Amino acid sequence: MSYEVSAPAERGRFAKASVRDAEVEGRTVLLRADLNVPLEDGAVADDTRIRAALPTIELLRDRGAAVVLCSHLGRPRDRESELSMAPVAERLSELLGTEVGLAPAVAGDAVREAAAGVGRGEVLLLENTRYEPGETKNEEALARGLAGLAELYVNDAFGAAHRAHASTAGVACHLPAYAGLLLEREVRELTAVIDDPGRPLVVVLGGAKVSDKVAVIERFLEIADEILIGGAMCFSFFRAQGKPTGDSLVEEEGIALAERALAAAEDSDCGLRLPTDLVLGDEFSADAEPRPLNGVAVPDGMMGLDVGAATAASYGEAIRAAGTVFWNGPMGAFELAPFAAGTRAVAEAVAESRGTTVVGGGDSAAALVSFGLADRVDWLSTGGGASLELIEGKELPGVEALLDSEERGARSKEQPTGLASEDHVA
Ligand code: ADP
Ligand code: MG
Repeated sequence: MSYEVSAPAERGRFAKASVRDAEVEGRTVLLRADLNVPLEDGAVADDTRIRAALPTIELLRDRGAAVVLCSHLGRPRDRESELSMAPVAERLSELLGTEVGLAPAVAGDAVREAAAGVGRGEVLLLENTRYEPGETKNEEALARGLAGLAELYVNDAFGAAHRAHASTAGVACHLPAYAGLLLEREVRELTAVIDDPGRPLVVVLGGAKVSDKVAVIERFLEIADEILIGGAMCFSFFRAQGKPTGDSLVEEEGIALAERALAAAEDSDCGLRLPTDLVLGDEFSADAEPRPLNGVAVPDGMMGLDVGAATAASYGEAIRAAGTVFWNGPMGAFELAPFAAGTRAVAEAVAESRGTTVVGGGDSAAALVSFGLADRVDWLSTGGGASLELIEGKELPGVEALLDSEERGARSKEQPTGLASEDHVA
């Protein structure tokens, strides 16, 4: 997936002011991106999210802005150096072909000084925003400290937009706040699935837990034509139907939720389909021998680790014929080679579908990448949790905090309040 986001198709709905319309020439812009990448041996293991952030960074540089960039990385407890942004700065320098400096912290005098020294077209990366305990508490002092580094704020961190943190939401109260290109494209692609989908709209949901996705199921029961369920999630449904699940992974709290979803499906025009056959193993291991089960009653001593071939084929047929496909969550334990076939079949059908295809979720995205199919979908969302909350119909604080598109002219003339010098965070 190349993340060509600079000219988003006018799809879906977006009511916020875009960075494309911001006057950034000669000004310092605080850019919040989602650079929360996996690390291995002190280096970036997968730079997808960094590459997805490039279009907005390049736009700001091309237009003569001084860019002060920030993101969180992992879940630091005590500013541990293993979660420093240093490897990100290094990879970003390579991708941009220019030196990206790393600030010594997130806020404070030294950071303020470093930010003031960023020239037009230059990029300074702040340290991990979660090094500051005030970040996840959305503390006013940190929000003001961040705002004090710049004259404008741009949020491109869709993957963190469902969190009201200082760098994603709080800071936007103190500076004229614009949407980055990726964040806009994400919201447009996902709202297009809900508002105006090509029919039939086929939704494929898998993964580990019903509780993660029940709100999404209930929303789609009102909108979609068919919901196809797979993954360990299906065992909560089978238990709700009184079927034996053997040693399969069952989320106990999910059983009541599944029961509720099954009842809602009764009253809905949307079909809710469950697997009709499975692949079993005797342990969660790549060494387990895959055993097809014609049916879904799992005997004791065995666990369902993938959907069966008949289920994969019939789900694939529905996906290929869809006008729109939304897929979140693998069909089985795809990390284990003997149990990847169901997820692979769904991924191939999504790639071949005649319809518009949107995929969200960390593991589903990883599955697509591992099958070499990431470029064959229309949109691969960078935001797992955020994409689900948007579909559920929840407001995303990181999006809500931005200027409305018609508000832009008026509020951008206001004096930013974050520049008061006594407000910095040490
Ligand atoms: P996503 O990140 O795409 O939203 P989830 O995190 O909800 O997906 O679920 C992915 C996880 O679910 C994977 O680690 C996968 O191994 C696991 N999983 C899926 N099906 C099964 C199953 N039948 N038994 C055990 N684990 C499963
Ligand atoms: Mg996951």
